[in-house]
Amino acid sequence: MEKSESLFQEAQNYIPGGVNSPVRAFGNIGITPRFIERAEGVYLYDADGRKYLDFICSWGPMILGHNQKDVLESVMDACKWGLSFGAATEREVVMAKLITEMVPAVEMVRMVNSGTEAVMSAIRVARGYTKRKKIVKFSGCYHGHSDSMLVSAGSGVMTSGMPDSAGVTKGCTKDTISAVYNDLSAMEELFASMEEEIAAVIVEPVAANMGVVPPKPGFLEGLRELCTKYGSLLIFDEVITGFRLGAGGASEYFKVTPDLITFGKIIGAGMPVGAYGGKREIMEMVAPVGAVYQAGTLSGNPVAMAAGIAQLTILKEHPEIYTKLNRMGDWFYGSLKKQVEQAGVTCQVNHIGSLGCLFFTEHPVTDYESAKTSNTAQYADYFKYMLEHGVNLAPSQFEAMFLSASHKKEELEKVLELASEYFQSYQKA
Ligand SMILES: *Cc1c(COP(=O)(O)O)cnc(C)c1O
Repeated sequence: MEKSESLFQEAQNYIPGGVNSPVRAFGNIGITPRFIERAEGVYLYDADGRKYLDFICSWGPMILGHNQKDVLESVMDACKWGLSFGAATEREVVMAKLITEMVPAVEMVRMVNSGTEAVMSAIRVARGYTKRKKIVKFSGCYHGHSDSMLVSAGSGVMTSGMPDSAGVTKGCTKDTISAVYNDLSAMEELFASMEEEIAAVIVEPVAANMGVVPPKPGFLEGLRELCTKYGSLLIFDEVITGFRLGAGGASEYFKVTPDLITFGKIIGAGMPVGAYGGKREIMEMVAPVGAVYQAGTLSGNPVAMAAGIAQLTILKEHPEIYTKLNRMGDWFYGSLKKQVEQAGVTCQVNHIGSLGCLFFTEHPVTDYESAKTSNTAQYADYFKYMLEHGVNLAPSQFEAMFLSASHKKEELEKVLELASEYFQSYQKA
């Protein structure tokens, strides 16, 4: 038996589903998930000695490639001084300063340990600051697994939240409103009907958890105007877009200034880190200065900060990384699109910069409803083909592909060849 298989079998005895996060279980794919032993640059190596060209990049953090030398050195150095003190450290100041320097919309920032925590806390701050209850989110956008965010409207109409998960009470989600991504006129109506009730609108400025769905021109600007007009806060969930689209994240990329931003994944360079920040006046609501309580025993952990600081410093000092990444993304996803068209395959290619995905559907994908028209069995078939040929893609139709600064043109060309072979011999699943 292969090692991945025996590990997976054993894991299922001790861990629900054998994994510590559901998407890793390859639920819809019908094959055993690969257990990864190590990674270097753009490659992953599994427990059976197989090698994969990686396009998940730990869901974003590995924007410089795996085991980047400076990040690794910074972490090892920090480890020598102690793993955690339960007290303030200089690295936290350095990290906070770096984030505020790189992201103009952030004047003050609080470190936490995950994206989930960042969102949960930002929402509490928004409610504390506005003294209002309602939060508007968009269906198909993921904001972590805190109770009030596990809501999706399901259909294209706006409905008051029904929980997506057992164990989440209606009470937890009754102040969450689901809206349709990219539909600004519906948002205008919603605001007009709710007047002073909406504390905040939270949005992934580029949706990347229903596949990749970029905002239509004017969508983010329109949200900004509406929030300002009605005294609600605009929260950008930049757990994926932050330090990904550019050094200033989506707020700088689209030139739209939210009131609060949440970060995760990438800012820890692979360590468990999240953060939320924004306008000084709003962030001064947070304890111990203000009345909104939020805390964390391991928040701002010195080893995690060492990793994040090293990565963000490189990104700050080398803006050309983003020029290259975004250009490479345009070329790579553009080439995929051409292949799909030439082969006559029913498939959409969405992308922005280094983020992208294929949707096996005839409909242009602009929101959750259109994303859900995808043939997920076809995606699973494509995924399996690529995995068997040594390419590690997201094991779900509704996740993104991530390019890193370490991916080389020759490697991407090989992937394009493989994809082309798949499209040529395409059979409907
Ligand atoms: C991953 C993700 C989160 C949750 O972050 P975790 O670190 O997994 O808790 C929140 N928002 C977005 C946009 C994400 O992609």
